[in-house]
Amino acid sequence: MRAVDAETTLPQLSDGELRRFGRHLILPEFGLEGQRRLKAGSVLLVGTGGLGCPTALYLAAAGVGRIGLVDADVVEETNLQRQVAHGYSTLGLAKTESAAARMRDLNPDAVIEQHKVFLTEENALDLIARYDVVIDGTDNFPTRYLVNDACVKLGKPNVFGGVLRFDGQLSVFDARRGPCYRCLFPEPPPVELAPNCSEAGVLGVLPGVIGALQATEAVKLLTGIGTPMVGRMLVYDGLDLSFNTVELAKNPNCPCCSKPSAEIVLRTEQMVCAAPTVGRTVSPTELRARLKADERMLVLDVRNPDEWLGGTIPGAMRIAKPELEAAIRSVLEEGRQPEGGVLAALPRDQDIIVYCQSGMRSSAAIRSLVAAGYDPAHLFNLDRGFSAWRKEAEQ
Ligand SMILES: [Zn+2]
Repeated sequence: MRAVDAETTLPQLSDGELRRFGRHLILPEFGLEGQRRLKAGSVLLVGTGGLGCPTALYLAAAGVGRIGLVDADVVEETNLQRQVAHGYSTLGLAKTESAAARMRDLNPDAVIEQHKVFLTEENALDLIARYDVVIDGTDNFPTRYLVNDACVKLGKPNVFGGVLRFDGQLSVFDARRGPCYRCLFPEPPPVELAPNCSEAGVLGVLPGVIGALQATEAVKLLTGIGTPMVGRMLVYDGLDLSFNTVELAKNPNCPCCSKPSAEIVLRTEQMVCAAPTVGRTVSPTELRARLKADERMLVLDVRNPDEWLGGTIPGAMRIAKPELEAAIRSVLEEGRQPEGGVLAALPRDQDIIVYCQSGMRSSAAIRSLVAAGYDPAHLFNLDRGFSAWRKEAEQ
């Protein structure tokens, strides 16, 4: 327990709160003071998705006094496999709105602050400065680095969680007493090595496991009980059901936390390809115009069959990237097209517009097509993929 004068500065609990938090109050390590510390505390959740949903619910239920939600997305049907604060009744609503309603139902005394924006280099410091603890529930590298750098600059603890497929990670980055995210990973990986959940998949329960652990760490940080995961990384393997802990060291040459706070400048990391980009890029607007003009060309969807169920660009041919690459490999290895091979369906004398969900897999598919002898001048990558196409359609 921290402050000596806690008794006088911490908020009092109402009769309703005393009833509701009874199971906390009887924990000797927690007690009335722990509960009052939670009420005095504030947490910012960056992302109200897979990780943000369980953390939001548990932190509200636990009695954290003020919780900020940062998210500009709306609830979609594909979210419901894991984002359990939302539901069919809130489809199309802002995710912050959907989560806040459920949180208020769990704890009407909590102040829920909605920030319907994405975290950017312009707003990150202002948002993060207003809270005691930050929970990183993002699924992309640029935001993850932004959260890290802003937390280091402001001296805030950053409860990090990461999920992909069946594997999860958790740590508390607090540069005042341990390493930061950049101590481990100074720069983002090339895009080819950085799959996200919409491309690689994620077991729906997994963010529940990691998110609940992030909420645990936030409660510990706010109340001062236990030992936070500073300087350690939890590695969770859902298939083996194993939890391993790895020690993390502070990097004395870290590009972020080795600098004085004033010298840390926020910037949005650009995800770059290790391999050179080939072919050209077409925007959703340009593609729409070309489709409307009925141009002679082929639109190729290289996403997975389960993603096709969520909608495709009208008239697109569907060949999942693994299938396409297998066909290309057999051409390259055997020097011939296998009987009925998928490449036979792809003309060499017309433009082919390739797309995936975000534009990364399609970019790799274009490189494979060039390796198979396709003319790069005929190959176009749909900029930011089907996500951008659909977003534009909704506007
Ligand atoms: Zn660092």
